[in-house]
Amino acid sequence: MAIKKLPDKCSLCGGSKKSGETTFTADLGFGVVVVRNVPATVCSQCGADWIEDNIAAKLEKIVNEARKKHHIVEVMSLSA
Ligand SMILES: [Zn+2]
Repeated sequence: MAIKKLPDKCSLCGGSKKSGETTFTADLGFGVVVVRNVPATVCSQCGADWIEDNIAAKLEKIVNEARKKHHIVEVMSLSA
């Protein structure tokens, strides 16, 4: 029996997705940026996460700011 792939299922394990939060990390070479409480769709089975475009844009801004400041470790929270 073939299992139809639905967009609301995890593409990795087929588990169900739910809205939640994830932690985003970026390696800048000289340091790392950690952003907590990032709104995301999370797989309830394997924990894979998907970040929406508008959130990804915010993260990109944060990464660019951190790159300018040149901190070794930058930890922040992205609460809606
Ligand atoms: Zn999954």
